[in-house]
Amino acid sequence: VKKNPGEPEFHQAVREVLESLKPVVDANEEKYRKEALLERLVEPERIIMFRVPWVDDNGNVQVNKGYRVQFNSAIGPYKGGLRFHPSVYLGIIKFLGFEQIFKNSLTGLPIGGGKGGSDFDPKGKSDREVMAFCQSFMTELYRHIGADTDVPAGDIGVGAREIGFMFGQYKRIRDAYEGVLTGKGLTYGGSLVRTQATGYGLLYLTEELLKLNGKELAGKTVAVSGAGNVAIYAIEKAYQLGAKPVTCSDSAGWIYDPEGIDLAALKEIKEVKRARLTEYKNYRPNAEYHEGKGVWSVKVDVALPCATQNELQLEDAKQLVANGCFAVCEGANMPTTLEATEYLQENGVIFAPGKAANAGGVATSALEMSQNSERLSWSFEEVDAKLQGIMVNICHNMADAAKKYGNEGNYVMGANVAGFEKVAEAMLAQGIC
Ligand code: NDP
Repeated sequence: VKKNPGEPEFHQAVREVLESLKPVVDANEEKYRKEALLERLVEPERIIMFRVPWVDDNGNVQVNKGYRVQFNSAIGPYKGGLRFHPSVYLGIIKFLGFEQIFKNSLTGLPIGGGKGGSDFDPKGKSDREVMAFCQSFMTELYRHIGADTDVPAGDIGVGAREIGFMFGQYKRIRDAYEGVLTGKGLTYGGSLVRTQATGYGLLYLTEELLKLNGKELAGKTVAVSGAGNVAIYAIEKAYQLGAKPVTCSDSAGWIYDPEGIDLAALKEIKEVKRARLTEYKNYRPNAEYHEGKGVWSVKVDVALPCATQNELQLEDAKQLVANGCFAVCEGANMPTTLEATEYLQENGVIFAPGKAANAGGVATSALEMSQNSERLSWSFEEVDAKLQGIMVNICHNMADAAKKYGNEGNYVMGANVAGFEKVAEAMLAQGIC
């Protein structure tokens, strides 16, 4: 805390990981201490911070902050998204980059951990303004990334439009057509299923985890928070697997639609119109719209937080348990606070942490990198089948790791241990660096 002041989200992520690694660390104490393994693990290999000046539609110059944290490259090139949101500061990017190390390792693919972003808010900006910002952002970032060095992707506020603008600028400056970003459009090197991957992957893992616990997803009622990329495709796959998602939310309010969320309406509002959820009433007059927070007050069997960090707090956890919810699987990164996680686990709720449950996005990004390297495009079915296989594997690996260290059913511990072991071994093998 002293070395990294004013970064509570980073402290929270590190504490959660280190606490759950205790049995592994105890078993290897001397080796890890001698090589300062944990001290190196929590210190990013490189932090890049830069100025992003751009001109708005009124001709005024705006200045934002840009970040890229290249956290750990022990098992592959840095890989992780870019977040554009006014709440972004170094502590958020460090927490996300730290989590990314273990998530990427869990996928079984050769990718290291990184994350980046800006306090720029794409909301309410014209396409030209977003392009001006993205071009300026890439005009600095390009010198630090590359297909074999660091491959950013999307995250909150960064979708296909932003990735397209940044890819165009990178290509122009570098004069190189390479897979330097993932989440690209299908006409220029993107992968089928990448758009759906995080939401679909979340549901593949949830279904498998319920199966492991003798339960079934089909026929269950599901609460989803968020209304962005992850939430929309989580809702889509939930329907495909026979469940009924009844909620969604954005930063202004939330929807409860007891008959099940109207997916076509949600896509039109969020993906086409880029509008607020207040519009949902125009499509479904019988649905409820509430301002503020509240998705976790609805009686459901399964909860899937898919919006942002710390959105599911102790009071929400209590309400979910009181309403009979038996599984919480995180689509977002660290959406559940430490206290809420503990409460859920103590009350027998099956809890899958984001670094396992939302790893489908980065896994499919790594598949996009493979396709770019071999200059081929795989079919939807091929990528989807690989994604499903990866999520089922992650599910079993985290369950087995928890069992191995005597903590069966503690998937937070299982995911951290399973992700950590490979990274630790690679770091030790590569010497002090
Ligand atoms: P989007 O920008 O597409 O959507 C984010 C959604 O969450 C929006 O509905 C947004 O509402 C809401 N939201 C964001 N910030 C807040 C906030 N502070 N309070 C309340 N609601 C908020 O992002 P994604 O769907 O891509 O990402 C969602 C989460 O999933 C993030 O934690 C991200 O890191 C994680 N994730 C995403 C992956 C991906 O592939 N996209 C991969 C792995 C993890 P509003 O529009 O009103 O801001």
